Amino acid sequence: MTTQQILSLNAFQPEEGVGLADDVARLVARRQRSFGASSVLFYQQPLHVVSASGAMIRTADGSEYLDLYNNVPSVGHCHPKVVAAVQEQVAQLNCHTRYLFDNVHDYAERLLATFPTPLSNLALTCTGSESNDLALRIVRQATGGAGFIVTETAYHGNTAAVTEVSPSSYKQGTPPRHVRMVPAPDPRNFPGDLGAGFAAAVRAAIAGLEADGIRFAGLLVDTIFSSDGVFADPPGFLKPAVEAVHAAGGLFIADEVQPGFGRTGSGMWGFARHEVVPDVVTMGKPMGNGIAMGGVVTRPELLAGYCDAFGYFNTFGGNPVAAAAGLAVLDVIAEDGLIDNAAQVGGHIAERLAAARERCPAIGDVRGAGLYLGVEIVSGDAPDPEGAKRLINALRDRHILIGAAGALGHVLKVRPPLCLTLEQADRFVDTLEDLISA
Ligand code: PMP
Repeated sequence: MTTQQILSLNAFQPEEGVGLADDVARLVARRQRSFGASSVLFYQQPLHVVSASGAMIRTADGSEYLDLYNNVPSVGHCHPKVVAAVQEQVAQLNCHTRYLFDNVHDYAERLLATFPTPLSNLALTCTGSESNDLALRIVRQATGGAGFIVTETAYHGNTAAVTEVSPSSYKQGTPPRHVRMVPAPDPRNFPGDLGAGFAAAVRAAIAGLEADGIRFAGLLVDTIFSSDGVFADPPGFLKPAVEAVHAAGGLFIADEVQPGFGRTGSGMWGFARHEVVPDVVTMGKPMGNGIAMGGVVTRPELLAGYCDAFGYFNTFGGNPVAAAAGLAVLDVIAEDGLIDNAAQVGGHIAERLAAARERCPAIGDVRGAGLYLGVEIVSGDAPDPEGAKRLINALRDRHILIGAAGALGHVLKVRPPLCLTLEQADRFVDTLEDLISA
């Protein structure tokens, strides 16, 4: 079975775009004219969206869709508290970041308080890609190494250096020699002790780099392995791999762009479920609930080592509007009880889907943590990417938005705003069962 490039998953194919509504067809044509080959849209019938709130998105024709895909508006689309904070700040001041602002320090201190003690410095960026780019540079500088280890279907962003450590971006060829891949931490890849097996793969990759004369720098993983197909359990399985990295003189970068900010339903960070303290943590998407912001948290000496050599300045990173959004996001996560909600509603979906398996043999493994679930679509024992694609488009026709993940694209990725209600969760499971039975 062929592996899929991440941007191809569930992507709109112009040749399949028959019967598009007039407004959609016109926008698709304009988009293709302006954005050319870089245009990526979801669904066979792309959506023309105009407004949103909570976990609902509205389209230009007045329809409402249940959003199970978006981790950018992570605390809910257009959350009133985030909107008000941004509006107030943007009306007062926004500019480059070489002045003193109160709110950015309130933000930095609040955010850093959620990390283990050694991780006490923060560099603010605008995207997850910028965060990972800086993390790679910090780790290279600290170790003197160039070799990085990532998972086979990893995605970490879009800069030149970060694309090299994102095997799922490759449409052809393989990553360069300084990048080594290990299989996803899928229990089927590592029967028996998953943690020991994954650590052994990391050790073998380190040995491979050294054998080729490339000094090992670090291991970079998304701590919920989302593009690999969502692998969260058992908690703690990452620990032996991180120990192996440190034993070899390397550093561990935890990419929290996907699991971070409470999504896993137990604390703020995905790495904490694994009882490890990363050397560098990178953040992005959910941080500003739609305002572009990202960040890198690390130990002061690692940041200083890098800044001694190069320095770091980011014109927009940590601007006062982003800080206002970030503060409001932290408030809402606490005030709306979103971490508990992720645990409760995510657990409910997982339980119902596991129970539905008997009636719906197309549902394979169901896994994940909190409101980040992977649901395998299978035909017999075999992965069924075509079936997953059909379901995604059929769900869209029933006004439920969802995406795919995994090397083959057969894993439904359930990743809604963290405010999803039990009723909305039931609507999804009922509709999925209905479609599979039909
Ligand atoms: N890391 C992970 C795990 C991601 O999923 C993404 C984006 N999907 C990124 C980094 C890059 O973030 P951005 O698109 O904000 O640059």
